[in-house]
Amino acid sequence: MRFISTRGGIAPIQFKEAVLMGLATDGGLLLPESLPVLPETTLAGWLAMAKAKQLSYQQLAFEIMRLFITDIPADELRRLVDRSYATFAHPAITPLVAVADLHILELFHGPTLAFKDVALQFLGNVFEYILKESGGRMNILGATSGDTGSAAIYGVRGKEGISIFILHPHKRVSPIQELQMTTVLDDNVFNLAIRGTFDDGQTIVKQIFNDIAFKDAYQLGAINSINWARILAQVVYYVYAWLQVAATTGATEVDFAVPTGNFGDIFAGFVAKRLLAGNRLRTLILATNENDLLTRFVNQGDYSLGTVVPTTSPSMDIQVASNFERFLYYLYNEDPQRVSQAMADFAKSGRLTFDAAEQEKIRAVFVAKRVSQLETEETIRAVDASCRYVLDPHTAVGVNAAQALRTPGVPVVCLATAHPAKFGSAVEAAIGRSLALPAALADLAGRPSRCEIVAADTAIVKNFVVGHAR
Ligand SMILES: *Cc1c(COP(=O)(O)O)cnc(C)c1O
Repeated sequence: MRFISTRGGIAPIQFKEAVLMGLATDGGLLLPESLPVLPETTLAGWLAMAKAKQLSYQQLAFEIMRLFITDIPADELRRLVDRSYATFAHPAITPLVAVADLHILELFHGPTLAFKDVALQFLGNVFEYILKESGGRMNILGATSGDTGSAAIYGVRGKEGISIFILHPHKRVSPIQELQMTTVLDDNVFNLAIRGTFDDGQTIVKQIFNDIAFKDAYQLGAINSINWARILAQVVYYVYAWLQVAATTGATEVDFAVPTGNFGDIFAGFVAKRLLAGNRLRTLILATNENDLLTRFVNQGDYSLGTVVPTTSPSMDIQVASNFERFLYYLYNEDPQRVSQAMADFAKSGRLTFDAAEQEKIRAVFVAKRVSQLETEETIRAVDASCRYVLDPHTAVGVNAAQALRTPGVPVVCLATAHPAKFGSAVEAAIGRSLALPAALADLAGRPSRCEIVAADTAIVKNFVVGHAR
């Protein structure tokens, strides 16, 4: 399997090179040359194993990943997968639980209690494997709205040959998110608190990556959601959940509700939909908070910048969806010229619009809802009252959209992207009682921490990297 750029400006490359490249050198995003479709016999085999409860998450991850990774030997890949999920606190890795008539896919049993661990534990191990093999070094640079940063840091802390620089918006991440990042004191970990928004941080990172000479000189690597390895790791749990639902209910079509920010998680759902073929993964229910860029895209064919509004689901407080270009590539029939033109137009005008035929194509895959903070709070309260199950605010955005947009008779899997204690104050306000912190977080506030507070300025961040890089 080889990988290409959405903008058509690179020669096809193998997986390992794609992982190291992060953002494509032509400014586009990397994608498989063609999206694989599972042979019917393979899927039937997995379903039989799921019914017999003999399909482990790790086994499935290995099977799916090796469709895309042809330049790492099978036994090494198996070892990477096993190591990545050994840090999870639940034997099923991503357990599926029934809550009323919904299926909740708990993606938060990793070390930082958010779904990003699923991808970043894997990516950290892949980086380490590649660098050991090549004798190379790497400086990871990323921007976070909260969860990516801590998950990335936990993915690479203490790993040889790798340093990590994470930008987060100063005092705009939850106190627990901030502490999860700044209390990791390994000497390969650097936290930069930017005086600005997440989008400012992301813009700085993109600008630094676009300086190809600098990127090469400092061996910069990306860990934010543009890295293909992250998308790939996330494809696994869609298929895993689909198999569990199909095995236990006999359903042949399943919908997924996805609380969405940068479009990474839901794009993995799109890849899984192609992989499963037909309508097995039927509809992706795209849920946003009041930062509704992507809801407007699906419902009105309007992809236009707004201003970021802070909400109780801060990991979705974004107005530029960094993975959107990947879907655009398929919407434009895999035409890199059209993608390049559209992204150039968007850079100029801050807006893309889609005609009726394109909108129809979009709605063949997605339905979407913007969920207000009031609705989010009410959903947390109602689900707690009726089921004694506590949702985090991001998950609640997805559950609210699922309840509003689901089709009777079609099972819905709601992706639970964070543990509720991670966003404790919003959750406690909704349910009216305090939440017990999981053991891993209990003593966080008392730990020593380290962080640099800097202006949202590309040159300043670059200088910091120069001064601290390996
Ligand atoms: C990152 C994140 C999201 C959004 O995921 P995207 O891949 O950016 O769409 C949703 N919920 C939580 C808790 C997150 O950390």
